[in-house]
Amino acid sequence: MKTIATYQGKEIVKNQEFVVDIEDMTAEGAGVAKLDGYTLFVKDALVGDKVRISVMKTKKTYGYARLVEILEPSKERVEPVCPVARICGGCQLQHLSYEGQLAFKEKKIESCLQRIGGLRDIPMEPIMGIEHPFYYRNKAQFPVGLDKDGKVITGFYVGRTHNIVDTSHCMIQAKENDELLAIVKAFMEEYNIKPYNEEQHSGLVRHILTRVGFTTKEIMVCLIINGEKLPKAEELVKRLENVPGMTSISININKEKTNRILGERCVTLWGKDYIEDYIGNVKYQISPLSFYQVNPVQTTKLYETALEYASLDGNEIVWDLYCGIGTISLFLAQKAKQVYGVEIVPQAIEDAKRNAKINDINNAEFFVGAAEDVLPKKYEESGGVMKADVIVVDPPRKGCEETLLDTIVQMEPKRIVYVSCDPATLARDLKILCGKGYEVKRVRGCDMFSQSYHVETCVLLSKTSETS
Ligand code: SAH
Repeated sequence: MKTIATYQGKEIVKNQEFVVDIEDMTAEGAGVAKLDGYTLFVKDALVGDKVRISVMKTKKTYGYARLVEILEPSKERVEPVCPVARICGGCQLQHLSYEGQLAFKEKKIESCLQRIGGLRDIPMEPIMGIEHPFYYRNKAQFPVGLDKDGKVITGFYVGRTHNIVDTSHCMIQAKENDELLAIVKAFMEEYNIKPYNEEQHSGLVRHILTRVGFTTKEIMVCLIINGEKLPKAEELVKRLENVPGMTSISININKEKTNRILGERCVTLWGKDYIEDYIGNVKYQISPLSFYQVNPVQTTKLYETALEYASLDGNEIVWDLYCGIGTISLFLAQKAKQVYGVEIVPQAIEDAKRNAKINDINNAEFFVGAAEDVLPKKYEESGGVMKADVIVVDPPRKGCEETLLDTIVQMEPKRIVYVSCDPATLARDLKILCGKGYEVKRVRGCDMFSQSYHVETCVLLSKTSETS
């Protein structure tokens, strides 16, 4: 039995046009329109828009349509500042005013906590917006390719594809990148150094990685190559070394047929192996392979919120689970008695230990392993007496394993601070914790990725008094 999508008794077919009002938005920022209750998702459309759409694909209960014409714009609609905003996969919400983006993100958090978390009367605090919602990223990984005429181009991928949009100026990246890309492209043209071709697994330069220390102004350039050596590397160095702030020039070797951008080995061509930067007053050494938050301005605000929620007076034992390079751990260590960090990537833990050392922080200890393995094991080894005053978690998008949440509850922390990059899994995990003796006291969003649909959330949970 095939059920078809219909409107007014007739089948909805591909390329059919409709005029619709956009009634809602998905978590990924697409507009939602209804045709007699049949749902169509319309990329680039906003709540409040009246638009003409063309049907692209239909499924039984929902379909996708393309925005053809805006008939009456939403009052939050603005002209995107970037000419390739609509085709580039980097930004999804440039056509929404910044105030509108913040409201969208706040609502996304609140509705996840209600729908998935089953929470009522959510203690939402105002979302933390960024003062300048452009040029905020300190790290870029530009794919390199050729255009139709064989000219070297760099840019970003068209949404959901590996086709490169030629962008020599990206509105969310550090402005320093324009000059760096121009130098690398001219160098490649002049010495006939070929970009990597994904399909044929041929050519040399795959990506250009840049990092800029927003506080220190130090700059790193790393060419990711499908080979062991970069021909004429000394020429490239000569051109890059005089860029103000240049601190580290390197290559990274990735000869695999893979979507992964970076290979395991780096070779420094000039300068240091790393750049330095600060989050708050903590200094970090960042190598091409290190994980480091891409928006240091908003990261500082988010971690200050986590610190405020942790409300430390210097006597606490704190666990920071999913600690990465120890960013939150080192922030908290300045106010706690002892911090323990757990992270699955060994290299990140090495960075965390080194970062503790260069900042003279001696009350932070780090363990490598999955949080859901390390914490239950340590708890068991202690015979069930290991307690914590505060536990912070900052998991990847998939959230926490339930076994980990169980151990956290057994350790009876007075407060749990949950930092999340996905409100849906956050809501799922909060529901579990709320069923086990904790309650949500404070919730605050933070906009780390302006112009995208992503949002970070910081939540404070406290132990309810009636449970033991
Ligand atoms: N708190 C850190 C990193 C947060 S990102 C910071 O702010 O810099 C999430 C981190 O969780 C990543 O570093 C990832 O490597 C790590 N991770 C993923 N799965 C994990 C697991 N099961 N146990 C511990 N860490 C994990």
